Amino acid sequence: MTELYDDLPEMDAFDTAPVRLTVDLQALAENWQDLARRSGKARAGAVVKADAYGLGIEDCGLTLYEAGARDFFVAVPSEGATLRAYAPEARIFVLSGIWPGQERLFLENDLVPVLASEEQLAFWMSLIAEIGPYPCALQVDTGFNRLGIRPEEAIALAHDVSRPASFDPVLILSHLHSADTPNDPQNRAQLDSFQQVTQAFEGIDRSLSASAGIFLGSDYHFDLTRPGIALYGGEATGGIKNPMRPVAKAEARILQLRNAPAGETVSYGGAHRLTRDSRLAIASVGYADGYLRSLSGAGIPLRQAVPQGAVGFFNGFRLPVVGRITMDLTVFDASDLPEAALRAGDYIELFGPNLALDEVARAGGSIGYELLTSIGLRHERRYIGEEASL
Ligand SMILES: *Cc1c(COP(=O)(O)O)cnc(C)c1O
Repeated sequence: MTELYDDLPEMDAFDTAPVRLTVDLQALAENWQDLARRSGKARAGAVVKADAYGLGIEDCGLTLYEAGARDFFVAVPSEGATLRAYAPEARIFVLSGIWPGQERLFLENDLVPVLASEEQLAFWMSLIAEIGPYPCALQVDTGFNRLGIRPEEAIALAHDVSRPASFDPVLILSHLHSADTPNDPQNRAQLDSFQQVTQAFEGIDRSLSASAGIFLGSDYHFDLTRPGIALYGGEATGGIKNPMRPVAKAEARILQLRNAPAGETVSYGGAHRLTRDSRLAIASVGYADGYLRSLSGAGIPLRQAVPQGAVGFFNGFRLPVVGRITMDLTVFDASDLPEAALRAGDYIELFGPNLALDEVARAGGSIGYELLTSIGLRHERRYIGEEASL
Protein backbone atom coordinates (compact mmCIF):
# COMPACT_ATOMS: atom_id res chain seq x y z
CA MET A 1 0.00 0.00 0.00
CA THR A 2 2.61 2.55 1.09
CA GLU A 3 4.72 1.79 -2.01
CA LEU A 4 1.77 2.75 -4.12
CA TYR A 5 1.53 6.10 -2.34
CA ASP A 6 5.28 6.66 -2.66
CA ASP A 7 4.92 7.16 -6.40
CA LEU A 8 2.45 9.98 -5.95
CA PRO A 9 3.77 13.54 -6.14
CA GLU A 10 4.13 15.59 -2.95
CA MET A 11 1.15 17.86 -2.59
CA ASP A 12 1.79 21.54 -2.07
CA ALA A 13 -1.15 22.74 -0.01
CA PHE A 14 -0.99 26.30 -1.31
CA ASP A 15 -0.44 25.52 -4.99
CA THR A 16 -3.43 23.19 -5.03
CA ALA A 17 -5.70 24.96 -2.53
CA PRO A 18 -9.32 25.45 -3.61
CA VAL A 19 -9.21 28.89 -2.04
CA ARG A 20 -6.10 30.68 -0.87
CA LEU A 21 -4.99 33.89 0.72
CA THR A 22 -1.64 35.59 0.26
CA VAL A 23 -0.66 38.03 3.00
CA ASP A 24 2.07 40.57 2.29
CA LEU A 25 3.77 41.15 5.64
CA GLN A 26 6.09 43.79 4.21
CA ALA A 27 3.04 45.81 3.10
CA LEU A 28 1.55 45.33 6.58
CA ALA A 29 4.71 46.66 8.25
CA GLU A 30 4.83 49.62 5.86
CA ASN A 31 1.17 50.42 6.49
CA TRP A 32 1.86 50.47 10.23
CA GLN A 33 4.84 52.79 9.74
CA ASP A 34 2.75 55.03 7.51
CA LEU A 35 -0.05 55.21 10.11
CA ALA A 36 2.51 55.85 12.87
CA ARG A 37 3.76 58.85 10.87
CA ARG A 38 0.20 60.04 10.28
CA SER A 39 -0.44 59.75 14.03
CA GLY A 40 2.00 62.61 14.59
CA LYS A 41 3.06 62.90 18.22
CA ALA A 42 0.85 60.01 19.27
CA ARG A 43 2.10 56.42 19.38
CA ALA A 44 0.40 54.12 16.94
CA GLY A 45 -1.02 50.92 18.38
CA ALA A 46 -2.33 48.00 16.35
CA VAL A 47 -5.75 46.36 16.43
CA VAL A 48 -5.44 42.62 15.76
CA LYS A 49 -8.87 41.39 16.86
CA ALA A 50 -10.69 38.66 14.90
CA ASP A 51 -7.43 36.88 14.05
CA ALA A 52 -5.93 40.13 12.71
CA TYR A 53 -8.99 40.82 10.58
CA GLY A 54 -8.83 37.27 9.23
CA LEU A 55 -5.18 37.43 8.15
CA GLY A 56 -3.60 35.54 11.09
CA ILE A 57 -2.81 36.99 14.49
CA GLU A 58 0.50 35.12 14.88
CA ASP A 59 2.25 36.29 11.72
CA CYS A 60 0.59 39.69 11.62
CA GLY A 61 1.15 40.27 15.35
CA LEU A 62 4.85 39.43 15.10
CA THR A 63 5.28 41.62 12.01
CA LEU A 64 3.61 44.59 13.71
CA TYR A 65 5.66 44.02 16.86
CA GLU A 66 8.88 43.94 14.85
CA ALA A 67 7.78 47.08 13.01
CA GLY A 68 7.59 48.80 16.39
CA ALA A 69 4.04 48.47 17.69
CA ARG A 70 3.91 48.07 21.49
CA ASP A 71 0.20 48.64 22.17
CA PHE A 72 -2.09 45.96 20.80
CA PHE A 73 -5.86 45.67 20.98
CA VAL A 74 -7.79 42.39 20.80
CA ALA A 75 -11.51 41.77 21.25
CA VAL A 76 -11.40 38.76 23.58
CA PRO A 77 -8.83 37.39 26.06
CA SER A 78 -8.09 34.17 24.12
CA GLU A 79 -6.80 36.34 21.27
CA GLY A 80 -4.56 38.14 23.73
CA ALA A 81 -3.20 34.85 25.05
CA THR A 82 -2.30 33.77 21.50
CA LEU A 83 -0.70 37.12 20.74
CA ARG A 84 1.45 37.19 23.88
CA ALA A 85 4.09 34.79 22.47
CA TYR A 86 4.56 37.03 19.43
CA ALA A 87 4.55 40.38 21.20
CA PRO A 88 6.46 39.66 24.42
CA GLU A 89 7.03 43.21 25.64
CA ALA A 90 3.82 44.71 24.35
CA ARG A 91 0.84 45.97 26.25
CA ILE A 92 -2.19 43.97 25.14
CA PHE A 93 -5.60 45.54 25.74
CA VAL A 94 -8.74 43.39 25.70
CA LEU A 95 -11.64 45.46 24.39
CA SER A 96 -14.43 43.29 25.80
CA GLY A 97 -13.18 43.75 29.36
CA ILE A 98 -12.89 41.05 32.01
CA TRP A 99 -15.48 38.66 33.44
CA PRO A 100 -15.40 36.57 36.61
CA GLY A 101 -13.60 33.33 35.77
CA GLN A 102 -11.18 34.98 33.32
CA GLU A 103 -8.80 36.34 35.98
CA ARG A 104 -6.18 33.64 35.45
CA LEU A 105 -6.15 34.09 31.67
CA PHE A 106 -5.54 37.81 32.11
CA LEU A 107 -2.88 37.55 34.78
CA GLU A 108 -0.95 34.69 33.21
CA ASN A 109 -0.73 36.50 29.88
CA ASP A 110 -0.34 39.99 31.29
CA LEU A 111 -3.46 41.26 29.51
CA VAL A 112 -5.02 44.62 30.28
CA PRO A 113 -8.82 44.66 30.46
CA VAL A 114 -10.69 47.60 28.98
CA LEU A 115 -13.41 48.21 31.57
CA ALA A 116 -16.58 49.51 30.02
CA SER A 117 -19.47 49.30 32.47
CA GLU A 118 -20.28 49.99 36.11
CA GLU A 119 -20.62 46.23 36.75
CA GLN A 120 -17.17 45.55 35.32
CA LEU A 121 -15.72 48.37 37.40
CA ALA A 122 -17.29 46.97 40.56
CA PHE A 123 -15.91 43.51 39.80
CA TRP A 124 -12.50 45.02 39.04
CA MET A 125 -12.36 47.00 42.28
CA SER A 126 -13.06 43.86 44.30
CA LEU A 127 -10.44 41.92 42.32
CA ILE A 128 -7.65 44.46 42.81
CA ALA A 129 -8.50 44.65 46.50
CA GLU A 130 -7.42 40.98 46.51
CA ILE A 131 -4.52 40.90 44.04
CA GLY A 132 -3.15 44.42 44.44
CA PRO A 133 -2.35 46.99 41.75
CA TYR A 134 -2.81 45.78 38.19
CA PRO A 135 -3.18 47.94 35.08
CA CYS A 136 -6.55 48.45 33.43
CA ALA A 137 -8.02 50.72 30.78
CA LEU A 138 -11.28 52.58 30.89
CA GLN A 139 -13.66 52.94 27.97
CA VAL A 140 -15.91 55.98 27.92
CA ASP A 141 -18.86 56.15 25.57
CA THR A 142 -19.00 59.62 24.02
CA GLY A 143 -21.94 58.96 21.71
CA PHE A 144 -21.60 55.53 20.10
CA ASN A 145 -23.97 53.84 22.55
CA ARG A 146 -22.04 50.64 22.31
CA LEU A 147 -19.52 49.92 25.08
CA GLY A 148 -18.32 52.30 27.74
CA ILE A 149 -19.38 54.17 30.85
CA ARG A 150 -21.03 57.53 30.33
CA PRO A 151 -18.89 60.68 30.49
CA GLU A 152 -20.51 61.84 33.75
CA GLU A 153 -19.88 58.43 35.32
CA ALA A 154 -16.23 58.63 34.28
CA ILE A 155 -15.83 62.11 35.74
CA ALA A 156 -17.45 60.99 38.98
CA LEU A 157 -15.05 58.05 39.12
CA ALA A 158 -12.07 60.37 38.62
CA HIS A 159 -13.15 62.43 41.63
CA ASP A 160 -14.25 59.48 43.77
CA VAL A 161 -12.02 59.58 46.86
CA SER A 162 -13.31 56.21 48.03
CA ARG A 163 -11.93 54.28 45.06
CA PRO A 164 -9.13 51.82 45.98
CA ALA A 165 -5.59 53.18 45.85
CA SER A 166 -4.63 50.16 43.78
CA PHE A 167 -6.95 51.29 40.94
CA ASP A 168 -4.44 51.93 38.18
CA PRO A 169 -5.91 52.96 34.83
CA VAL A 170 -3.14 53.26 32.22
CA LEU A 171 -5.37 54.31 29.31
CA ILE A 172 -8.66 56.04 28.82
CA LEU A 173 -10.29 55.50 25.49
CA SER A 174 -13.38 56.24 23.46
CA HIS A 175 -14.48 55.33 19.94
CA LEU A 176 -15.75 57.59 17.14
CA HIS A 177 -18.81 56.44 15.22
CA SER A 178 -18.56 58.64 12.12
CA ALA A 179 -14.86 59.24 11.63
CA ASP A 180 -15.08 57.85 8.09
CA THR A 181 -17.12 60.98 7.24
CA PRO A 182 -14.64 63.76 8.04
CA ASN A 183 -17.17 66.61 7.83
CA ASP A 184 -19.70 65.03 10.15
CA PRO A 185 -20.15 67.46 13.08
CA GLN A 186 -20.65 64.51 15.44
CA ASN A 187 -16.90 63.91 15.32
CA ARG A 188 -16.28 67.28 16.94
CA ALA A 189 -19.00 66.61 19.53
CA GLN A 190 -17.39 63.32 20.52
CA LEU A 191 -13.99 65.02 20.62
CA ASP A 192 -15.30 67.74 22.98
CA SER A 193 -16.88 65.17 25.25
CA PHE A 194 -13.67 63.09 25.31
CA GLN A 195 -11.60 66.16 26.17
CA GLN A 196 -13.83 66.95 29.14
CA VAL A 197 -13.50 63.45 30.50
CA THR A 198 -9.76 63.14 30.01
CA GLN A 199 -9.14 66.44 31.79
CA ALA A 200 -10.49 64.75 34.90
CA PHE A 201 -7.92 61.94 34.49
CA GLU A 202 -4.75 63.98 34.27
CA GLY A 203 -1.56 62.16 33.40
CA ILE A 204 -3.27 59.06 32.00
CA ASP A 205 -2.75 58.18 28.33
CA ARG A 206 -5.68 58.96 26.05
CA SER A 207 -6.84 57.23 22.87
CA LEU A 208 -9.73 58.25 20.62
CA SER A 209 -8.93 57.35 17.03
CA ALA A 210 -9.13 54.13 15.07
CA SER A 211 -7.97 54.12 11.42
CA ALA A 212 -10.39 56.75 10.19
CA GLY A 213 -9.81 59.06 13.14
CA ILE A 214 -6.09 59.25 12.32
CA PHE A 215 -7.07 61.03 9.10
CA LEU A 216 -9.12 63.66 10.98
CA GLY A 217 -5.98 65.51 12.06
CA SER A 218 -3.87 66.07 15.15
CA ASP A 219 -6.75 67.14 17.43
CA TYR A 220 -7.91 63.55 17.31
CA HIS A 221 -4.59 61.81 17.92
CA PHE A 222 -4.05 62.28 21.69
CA ASP A 223 -1.40 59.85 23.04
CA LEU A 224 -2.20 56.60 21.25
CA THR A 225 -4.04 55.69 18.04
CA ARG A 226 -5.74 52.35 17.34
CA PRO A 227 -5.56 51.55 13.63
CA GLY A 228 -7.13 48.30 12.43
CA ILE A 229 -8.57 48.10 8.91
CA ALA A 230 -6.03 50.53 7.39
CA LEU A 231 -3.16 48.28 8.54
CA TYR A 232 -4.63 45.50 6.44
CA GLY A 233 -5.04 47.72 3.38
CA GLY A 234 -8.76 48.44 3.76
CA GLU A 235 -10.42 51.77 3.20
CA ALA A 236 -10.70 53.89 6.33
CA THR A 237 -12.03 57.16 5.03
CA GLY A 238 -14.64 57.93 2.41
CA GLY A 239 -14.04 60.46 -0.34
CA ILE A 240 -10.27 60.01 -0.74
CA LYS A 241 -8.21 57.51 -2.69
CA ASN A 242 -7.16 54.73 -0.31
CA PRO A 243 -3.49 55.49 0.47
CA MET A 244 -2.71 52.14 2.09
CA ARG A 245 -0.90 49.25 0.41
CA PRO A 246 -3.03 46.14 -0.24
CA VAL A 247 -2.01 43.39 2.19
CA ALA A 248 -4.25 40.47 1.24
CA LYS A 249 -4.95 38.69 -1.99
CA ALA A 250 -7.73 36.10 -2.06
CA GLU A 251 -7.91 33.62 -4.93
CA ALA A 252 -10.10 30.70 -5.90
CA ARG A 253 -9.28 27.79 -8.16
CA ILE A 254 -11.23 27.27 -11.36
CA LEU A 255 -12.58 23.71 -11.33
CA GLN A 256 -14.30 23.64 -14.67
CA LEU A 257 -14.96 25.72 -17.75
CA ARG A 258 -18.21 25.11 -19.58
CA ASN A 259 -20.02 26.50 -22.58
CA ALA A 260 -23.71 27.32 -22.19
CA PRO A 261 -26.05 28.67 -24.86
CA ALA A 262 -28.11 31.84 -24.60
CA GLY A 263 -31.45 31.19 -22.93
CA GLU A 264 -30.18 28.71 -20.32
CA THR A 265 -30.10 29.66 -16.67
CA VAL A 266 -27.28 29.53 -14.10
CA SER A 267 -27.19 28.37 -10.46
CA TYR A 268 -29.94 28.02 -7.82
CA GLY A 269 -33.36 29.29 -8.62
CA GLY A 270 -32.37 29.72 -12.25
CA ALA A 271 -32.11 33.33 -11.18
CA HIS A 272 -29.83 34.36 -14.01
CA ARG A 273 -30.78 33.67 -17.64
CA LEU A 274 -27.93 33.93 -20.15
CA THR A 275 -28.48 36.56 -22.82
CA ARG A 276 -25.63 35.30 -25.02
CA ASP A 277 -23.77 32.09 -25.66
CA SER A 278 -21.41 32.03 -22.70
CA ARG A 279 -18.27 30.47 -21.38
CA LEU A 280 -18.59 29.95 -17.64
CA ALA A 281 -15.78 29.44 -15.12
CA ILE A 282 -16.77 27.47 -12.04
CA ALA A 283 -14.65 28.58 -9.10
CA SER A 284 -14.03 26.68 -5.89
CA VAL A 285 -15.27 29.34 -3.49
CA GLY A 286 -18.62 30.03 -1.91
CA TYR A 287 -20.26 31.63 1.05
CA ALA A 288 -18.86 28.98 3.40
CA ASP A 289 -15.48 30.51 2.53
CA GLY A 290 -16.75 33.97 3.37
CA TYR A 291 -17.41 34.87 -0.25
CA LEU A 292 -20.65 36.53 0.77
CA ARG A 293 -23.84 35.32 -0.88
CA SER A 294 -24.81 38.95 -1.31
CA LEU A 295 -22.03 39.23 -3.92
CA SER A 296 -24.19 37.08 -6.23
CA GLY A 297 -24.85 38.24 -9.74
CA ALA A 298 -28.58 37.69 -9.51
CA GLY A 299 -31.44 36.50 -7.37
CA ILE A 300 -30.42 38.05 -4.06
CA PRO A 301 -32.56 41.07 -3.25
CA LEU A 302 -30.67 43.01 -0.60
CA ARG A 303 -30.88 46.53 0.61
CA GLN A 304 -27.63 47.92 -0.74
CA ALA A 305 -26.02 45.25 -2.89
CA VAL A 306 -25.51 46.32 -6.49
CA PRO A 307 -27.75 44.26 -8.81
CA GLN A 308 -24.93 43.06 -11.07
CA GLY A 309 -22.95 41.58 -8.13
CA ALA A 310 -19.19 41.26 -7.82
CA VAL A 311 -16.48 40.48 -10.34
CA GLY A 312 -13.32 38.38 -10.21
CA PHE A 313 -10.03 39.31 -11.86
CA PHE A 314 -7.93 37.23 -14.22
CA ASN A 315 -5.12 38.35 -16.45
CA GLY A 316 -6.37 41.89 -17.04
CA PHE A 317 -10.04 40.90 -17.32
CA ARG A 318 -12.91 41.44 -14.91
CA LEU A 319 -15.24 38.45 -14.83
CA PRO A 320 -18.76 39.06 -13.46
CA VAL A 321 -20.28 36.64 -10.96
CA VAL A 322 -23.19 34.85 -12.68
CA GLY A 323 -26.26 33.83 -10.72
CA ARG A 324 -26.31 32.91 -7.06
CA ILE A 325 -23.15 32.16 -5.11
CA THR A 326 -23.54 28.74 -3.48
CA MET A 327 -21.92 27.22 -0.39
CA ASP A 328 -18.73 26.03 -2.09
CA LEU A 329 -18.96 27.20 -5.68
CA THR A 330 -19.30 30.40 -7.65
CA VAL A 331 -19.83 30.86 -11.39
CA PHE A 332 -17.94 33.61 -13.23
CA ASP A 333 -18.60 34.77 -16.78
CA ALA A 334 -15.43 34.17 -18.79
CA SER A 335 -17.05 34.81 -22.19
CA ASP A 336 -14.97 37.90 -22.92
CA LEU A 337 -11.64 36.12 -22.45
CA PRO A 338 -9.81 34.59 -25.40
CA GLU A 339 -10.81 30.92 -25.60
CA ALA A 340 -7.69 29.32 -24.08
CA ALA A 341 -6.75 32.15 -21.71
CA LEU A 342 -8.35 30.65 -18.64
CA ARG A 343 -8.05 26.95 -17.87
CA ALA A 344 -9.24 24.62 -15.18
CA GLY A 345 -6.70 24.77 -12.36
CA ASP A 346 -6.01 28.49 -12.81
CA TYR A 347 -6.72 30.90 -9.98
CA ILE A 348 -9.09 33.83 -10.20
CA GLU A 349 -8.49 36.83 -7.92
CA LEU A 350 -11.46 37.58 -5.64
CA PHE A 351 -9.84 40.72 -4.24
CA GLY A 352 -6.28 41.94 -3.91
CA PRO A 353 -3.85 44.21 -5.73
CA ASN A 354 -5.91 44.16 -8.94
CA LEU A 355 -9.35 44.33 -7.39
CA ALA A 356 -9.89 46.50 -4.32
CA LEU A 357 -11.25 44.73 -1.26
CA ASP A 358 -13.69 47.56 -0.64
CA GLU A 359 -14.99 47.61 -4.20
CA VAL A 360 -15.86 43.92 -3.97
CA ALA A 361 -17.41 44.33 -0.52
CA ARG A 362 -19.55 47.22 -1.72
CA ALA A 363 -20.94 45.08 -4.55
CA GLY A 364 -22.42 42.86 -1.84
CA GLY A 365 -23.80 45.75 0.20
CA SER A 366 -21.03 45.17 2.72
CA ILE A 367 -17.73 46.68 3.86
CA GLY A 368 -14.11 45.59 3.57
CA TYR A 369 -14.06 44.67 7.27
CA GLU A 370 -16.76 42.03 6.87
CA LEU A 371 -15.36 40.51 3.70
CA LEU A 372 -11.85 40.33 5.16
CA THR A 373 -12.87 38.75 8.46
CA SER A 374 -15.20 36.28 6.69
CA ILE A 375 -12.81 35.07 4.04
CA GLY A 376 -10.26 33.44 6.38
CA LEU A 377 -12.14 30.26 7.28
CA ARG A 378 -11.23 27.67 4.67
CA HIS A 379 -8.44 29.53 2.92
CA GLU A 380 -4.93 28.18 2.71
CA ARG A 381 -2.68 31.06 3.73
CA ARG A 382 0.75 32.01 2.46
CA TYR A 383 2.84 34.79 3.94
CA ILE A 384 5.25 36.73 1.82
CA GLY A 385 7.52 39.62 2.75
CA GLU A 386 10.59 41.58 1.81
CA GLU A 387 11.64 39.53 -1.23
CA ALA A 388 8.19 39.41 -2.86
CA SER A 389 5.06 41.50 -2.97
CA LEU A 390 1.46 40.93 -4.04
C1 LIG B 1 -12.22 47.63 15.94
C2 LIG B 1 -11.82 48.78 16.77
C3 LIG B 1 -10.77 49.61 16.37
C4 LIG B 1 -10.13 49.53 15.03
O1 LIG B 1 -11.00 50.10 14.06
P1 LIG B 1 -10.62 50.26 12.53
O2 LIG B 1 -11.75 51.01 11.96
O3 LIG B 1 -10.53 48.88 11.98
O4 LIG B 1 -9.32 50.97 12.44
C5 LIG B 1 -10.36 50.58 17.28
N1 LIG B 1 -10.97 50.74 18.46
C6 LIG B 1 -12.00 49.97 18.86
C7 LIG B 1 -12.64 50.22 20.17
C8 LIG B 1 -12.48 48.99 18.01
O5 LIG B 1 -13.53 48.24 18.39
